[in-house]
Amino acid sequence: MLIRPQICAENLARVRARILSTATATGRNPESVTLLAVSKGQPPEAVRQFAALGLRDFAENYLQEALTKMDAVADAALRWHFIGPVQSNKTAAIAERFAWVHTVDRPRIAERLSAQRPHYAPPLKICLQVKLGSETSKSGVLPADLPALAASVARLPRLELRGLMCLPPPETTRDRQRHWFAELAGLASLLRAQGLPLDTLSMGMSTDLEAAIEEGSTLLRIGTALFGPRTSDPGSISSLDGTGAPS
Ligand SMILES: *Cc1c(COP(=O)(O)O)cnc(C)c1O
Repeated sequence: MLIRPQICAENLARVRARILSTATATGRNPESVTLLAVSKGQPPEAVRQFAALGLRDFAENYLQEALTKMDAVADAALRWHFIGPVQSNKTAAIAERFAWVHTVDRPRIAERLSAQRPHYAPPLKICLQVKLGSETSKSGVLPADLPALAASVARLPRLELRGLMCLPPPETTRDRQRHWFAELAGLASLLRAQGLPLDTLSMGMSTDLEAAIEEGSTLLRIGTALFGPRTSDPGSISSLDGTGAPS
């Protein structure tokens, strides 16, 4: 795949302009919103392009794909976020290689991540994934179970609980999008009132970043608006960077 620097720069400028105009209109400091580049389904060369344009935070959903890509760009000193479902047999590698995990949704996963976080590394930064609405993915803690999970994660020595994450059902109107993000923001306020110092709302993607910013997002997870379309099968990523896997 040919990665055109010009297109990467234009896409990044467009996303930054959307963040700037929404933040400004909402009375928020645009710098309070971090842009996280979701590089799943994209080759290492694309990550390099965006790193050269100044992005430092990158996110991946699939561990094997992530590890291969991280090795390929190891010289770039990037901060990696894990945003896919966490299986318990994958926690050791995730605890070792990532700076953030956005998708913790049960105590057992949190306990393993804490136990397996290497002692030479700072505590692993955690967002709890909350399941909003009845039609969302299987992942995510139910709002009713969130306070107990948050309290137990906050006690784990090698984790640093930073906030909440959601992947709401796709909505076509700004009001419907805002509804879910407002719900997540409300849950975070509730936890703060109980003494947990949460500073992160990981919400908003390519099609709904405006609604997310309006409801207080501090971390946008943006894939297609930066990189363009993904390959349909993330497992075929290596064929894109010329390492020879069948497509
Ligand atoms: C793929 C993905 C994104 C990015 O989605 P886009 O619509 O491409 O911006 C964000 N968050 C999660 C959890 C994802 O899986």
